[in-house]
Amino acid sequence: MSTARAIAGDIRSGAQRAADVLEEYLGRIEAHDGDVHAFNTVTAEQARAAAAAIDAAVDEGRDPGPLAGVPVAFKDNLCTRGVATTCSSRMLEGWRPPYDATVVQAMTAAGAVMIGKTNLDEFAMGSSTEHSAFGPTRNPYDLARVPGGSSGGSAAAVAAGFAPLALGSDTGGSIRQPASLCGIVGIKPTYGRVSRYGLVAFASSFDQIGPFATDVADAALALGVISGHDPFDSTSIPAAVPDFEAALARGVEGLRVGVVSELTGSGRNGAATGSPMLGDAAGEVLGGIDADVTERVLEAADALADAGATVGRVSVPAVTYGLTAYYLIAPAEASSNLARYDGTRYGLRVEGADVEEMNRLTRRAGFGDEVKARIMLGTFALSAGYYDAYYGKAQRVRMLTRRDFDAAYADFDVLLSPTSPCVAFRFGERADPMTMYRCDTCTIPSNLSGDPAMSVPFGTGAEDLPVGVQVMAPALGEEAMLTVAAALERAAPPLPKPPLAAAASTTGAGS
Ligand code: GLN
Repeated sequence: MSTARAIAGDIRSGAQRAADVLEEYLGRIEAHDGDVHAFNTVTAEQARAAAAAIDAAVDEGRDPGPLAGVPVAFKDNLCTRGVATTCSSRMLEGWRPPYDATVVQAMTAAGAVMIGKTNLDEFAMGSSTEHSAFGPTRNPYDLARVPGGSSGGSAAAVAAGFAPLALGSDTGGSIRQPASLCGIVGIKPTYGRVSRYGLVAFASSFDQIGPFATDVADAALALGVISGHDPFDSTSIPAAVPDFEAALARGVEGLRVGVVSELTGSGRNGAATGSPMLGDAAGEVLGGIDADVTERVLEAADALADAGATVGRVSVPAVTYGLTAYYLIAPAEASSNLARYDGTRYGLRVEGADVEEMNRLTRRAGFGDEVKARIMLGTFALSAGYYDAYYGKAQRVRMLTRRDFDAAYADFDVLLSPTSPCVAFRFGERADPMTMYRCDTCTIPSNLSGDPAMSVPFGTGAEDLPVGVQVMAPALGEEAMLTVAAALERAAPPLPKPPLAAAASTTGAGS
């Protein structure tokens, strides 16, 4: 399997044809997606036409762009003109958007070739992709385990070698957590850095789009392509887009890295494995962090210190309330956003005696249980008499989180934590909602603050499954975040390839 950079380089120079690259990826999907179920739709014919256009451009001496001929998978909550966009919900089955999301436009304008739309938890609500109306996606490392969620399809597609790049959305961790569980890189940019135009809304004050890739440099390349101001998104930031790739070669010397105490628990036991510089952790979050994960994060911190960074512990007290605040605010926003699925405008309609009954029957048939639970929770949190006690209080916690992060960033350039409290779990293992929601403990704080955060693979934990380290930075601080992520990638122990991708690279070489 090649990187997006290598593929685009080859195609721009004429060393490879976009059509051939595409067939190689379509072949892998054909051979293995029956097992993985990363895709809701594979857009083979449209992709063949797009690849042919890229090859024609090269033949005519034109440069198709930095992602020339790179197959890319889009999460199925990103609008794609004329191509079904389902959000993995019965509610939108058969709906074809009349326009492309800004990020889809940006990727294709840079030469990328859409290869398909990927599975997700219904309307992006979940952490395992088990809540998809079309059945779960399986983790390429172990088909008995979840790929994480909600962008599980995008993460599994990249990990399985079905596409070198994918886009997902992250409202409470849905890019970073599946990236972590699938052993790849995933970035949630600063809120406003990437346009949300054409992303089907879940919780609009949190939703951000970002890339999945097999390495930090590919993720940085894709981030550069999709970043920038967009007048179609009123929360889009009119800031210049830095050269993200230039940040990768910078060393970490002099950078101050803070390991978040509340998110690293007391997993490290005894002096034999103890970090001489970090000592013991202070607090611990609800549900805890598994010891194998904490171990890798502390090793990552040590590796950064070895590379010249100044590493210390930092307390960000409000992160312990993040989960509670998020699971009030996000459902509140969702209850409002999902009111538009009424049987009149989009997708499904179940006829009734009058409009009200039609609305009710449509929503009852169209939404799955988790989505219904969120709508009810959100409606309750916003109802008269409870608004101040729940929603208002959660907003104050959100403010507190921002302040605590600001205080931490006064002393540190980036912060480090686990991405997920555990490695990939088995299907059904986290069936009760609270256990599932705890998957988001480490990722949610950066959604509350709006700051950028990413997951980088760093070794393995239990059962030799991938562990991801989360690198967080202040708003618009993606460059320092990427510098640290690149350093972690250089220091990381080699990650075993998922069995599927290993098989794919053998067949790929022979064909
Ligand atoms: N797992 C979280 C939730 O269920 C986050 C989802 C997301 O980021 N889209 O809300």
